[in-house]
Amino acid sequence: MNSFDAFKDPALCRSLLGRLTEEATTPMRFMEVCGTHTVAIFQSGLRSLLPGTITHLTGPGCPVCVTHESEVAAFLELAARDDVIVATFGDLMRVPGPKGANLKTASAEGARVEVVYSPFDALALAKANPDRTVVFLGIGFETTAPTVAATIRLAREQSLDNFLVMSFHKLVPPALRALLADPEARVDAFILPGHVSAIIGVDPYAFLATEYGVPSVITGFEPLDILQALIHIVRMRRDNAPAVINQYSRVVPEHGNQKALAVMAEVFTPVDALWRGLGVLPQSGLAIAEPYAAFDAFKVLGITLKDHPPLPGCRCGEVLKGKMPPNECPLFAKACTPATPVGPCMVSTEGGCAAYFKYRLEA
Ligand code: SF4
Repeated sequence: MNSFDAFKDPALCRSLLGRLTEEATTPMRFMEVCGTHTVAIFQSGLRSLLPGTITHLTGPGCPVCVTHESEVAAFLELAARDDVIVATFGDLMRVPGPKGANLKTASAEGARVEVVYSPFDALALAKANPDRTVVFLGIGFETTAPTVAATIRLAREQSLDNFLVMSFHKLVPPALRALLADPEARVDAFILPGHVSAIIGVDPYAFLATEYGVPSVITGFEPLDILQALIHIVRMRRDNAPAVINQYSRVVPEHGNQKALAVMAEVFTPVDALWRGLGVLPQSGLAIAEPYAAFDAFKVLGITLKDHPPLPGCRCGEVLKGKMPPNECPLFAKACTPATPVGPCMVSTEGGCAAYFKYRLEA
């Protein structure tokens, strides 16, 4: 048995599930804010075992899903340039932008788009192609941003002047604030992302309990982690004692990862950002800070975000806000499937619609 198996122990899971069922006597709607939690809850079978009083909502924690149509349009504008090689993580390739176009179709039409596994691969691509400008598409939350920041710093140290980043990094706490500020929000509790929290720690979530009275638990991805988080939540609600509990202390330091936070603060600056379905959220994104402006694709190439309407028929915005389960979208499993995705929530394996589709069939 490896150390992860211990967190899946069937007897312990049954015991915690029994306790949860016994204690969860009042209705409760909890949202997970991380695509990895979305998949973990479905994959482990937990979703179908939860007591009937508990409703599970998927939230805005899939970076691909929250990438806005206007941002995809900016990628496509970039890909249309002859002097540019676009370097991207693979999961962005099929994210639909205006009129359903995506990087995959752009590539088929002749754009130079390279899939990379890390921003450092994009740096290597720039070194190997000194006559072209390599632009890395910076998508992701606080988990990804420090590595991209370190890559930009390395590019400056190496005086690499053909490497740029188009930063669309987003920050999780402002999105949670926006969800709760919505008068139609029906979220009673959060389970908070383990990976993001390993970078930012516990403090940035304090407002969930102090300002909104919403109990929240930072938790890991194994069944026992999730069950324990739900028991904490049920008890906080029962005792009317909302707080932010760090259940994942084996990975998440109370005050975050100081080195990662330092490099982020050096290279990026917080800005208002566009989220698919949520609109513009104040101070919820990371732009490249002025001292590193020479690596900012927006500034160097003169690209700006333009208005683009939502994809016709796609209800990803409501799915991402927990207002509608994916299978209530009229296109779900009809026009929209993983093979023919209409919206990004069906493209990404961590998207709510893709998870509903996959596990609906296998459950
Ligand atoms: Fe959008 Fe497809 Fe999900 Fe409907 S099922 S919300 S069209 S991604």
